[in-house]
Amino acid sequence: MSLNAKIDSPPVGKAMLEASFSFSDAGATRMSSAIMPTYGRGPTDPAFDRGEGPYLFTTDGKRYLDFASGIAVTSLGHAHPVVVKALIEQAQKVWHTSNLFRIPGQEKLAERLTANSFADYAFFSNSGAEALEGTIKLVRKYQYENGHPERYRIITFEGAFHGRTLATLAAAGNEKYLKGFGPKVDGFDQVALNDLAAVKKAIGPETAGILVEPIQGEGGIRACTPEFLKGLRALCDEHGLLLAFDEVQCGMGRTGKLFAYQGYGVTPDVMALAKSIGAGFPFGAFLATKEAAKGMTAGTHGSTYGGNPLAMAVGNAVLDVMLTPGFLEHAQQTGSHLKQQLAMIVDKHPKVVKAVRGTGLMLGLEAVVENTKLVEACRAEGLLTVGGGENVVRLAAPLIIEDKHVSEGIGMIDRACSKLEG
Ligand SMILES: *Cc1c(COP(=O)(O)O)cnc(C)c1O
Repeated sequence: MSLNAKIDSPPVGKAMLEASFSFSDAGATRMSSAIMPTYGRGPTDPAFDRGEGPYLFTTDGKRYLDFASGIAVTSLGHAHPVVVKALIEQAQKVWHTSNLFRIPGQEKLAERLTANSFADYAFFSNSGAEALEGTIKLVRKYQYENGHPERYRIITFEGAFHGRTLATLAAAGNEKYLKGFGPKVDGFDQVALNDLAAVKKAIGPETAGILVEPIQGEGGIRACTPEFLKGLRALCDEHGLLLAFDEVQCGMGRTGKLFAYQGYGVTPDVMALAKSIGAGFPFGAFLATKEAAKGMTAGTHGSTYGGNPLAMAVGNAVLDVMLTPGFLEHAQQTGSHLKQQLAMIVDKHPKVVKAVRGTGLMLGLEAVVENTKLVEACRAEGLLTVGGGENVVRLAAPLIIEDKHVSEGIGMIDRACSKLEG
């Protein structure tokens, strides 16, 4: 058997389409792929060969409009020339040196991210979950440094998603993901989202901080109310707690602002980023004020790959594009246009969808039918979307889309809904 034949052979298993939120026990029925069967993929799922702007092309040439963006990651679309150029140029120079040495691209990106946010410092990780691990460590260390080693607990929220490491799973508290993986990491107290009274009640002598997604992504595009975030800020100030935002999904332009907190006018002490930050190159970051990061001294945290020259070249190129005057405004306007059009879909197809959620290009359709059915029907029309909690279909189109892509996508959703009705 040739090597190619082996690589090209499709995985065999039960065909199923699952929301990214609920990779069920598809593995139980899987047979002969060499991929550890943690993802509910099947042989009918497409494999992509090439991307261009908001489009993806399968190996057999079928074109899809990509409003999934690899789960809100490829925010500049596919093969963006500025990012491709930066990656190739850096690849020919140096990829990796480790953090034993200075990394000029890292210094530059940290400088730019902090200049454009509340923060004074940035630490670079390889993923969203790692950015959250760092955030959690920073919150605990801050209290320790302030003479409160007993304060290590963090208040988190129902419906949250912070990643798949042991601590981030405990932070989100989703029993389905925790089950079977041993004792839950201690130190997280979940309360209901947008319930300030519940947060107040949960604050105790061991509380160190509050961790929240300003807009929950996996949870189904569930936004915090402005009053709630303002209330969290006030509670943190009153009790000496740190306020941590998980902007892994809602940050980096997704809402039409560089960071979601800027739309709320509520400033955190620390913030985790990933997904769009590398537009498909895997890396993340956490940003903090000097005061919040006071315990993060030399030797207290680190990463072998984190912030390596290759990742930083891409990150700087992504920021070059996002900070171009008018870029974020364009995303915001296109997002409002898409949201209006989606509202018309809701009016037209009440048996399939019942409401639109979200802001900028972080949008969700509340489905009446099973959301996975709608994701599947959209895909059959050539549109990629992602499932989310609360039976939502997430639309995380690349920030570069134009009104013509909105029309094209809406046409596909319209036809998908009609088919589901029929
Ligand atoms: C995706 C996501 C994470 C985890 O990021 P990974 O890169 O998958 O580890 C954390 N928080 C939020 C809000 C996310 O959407």
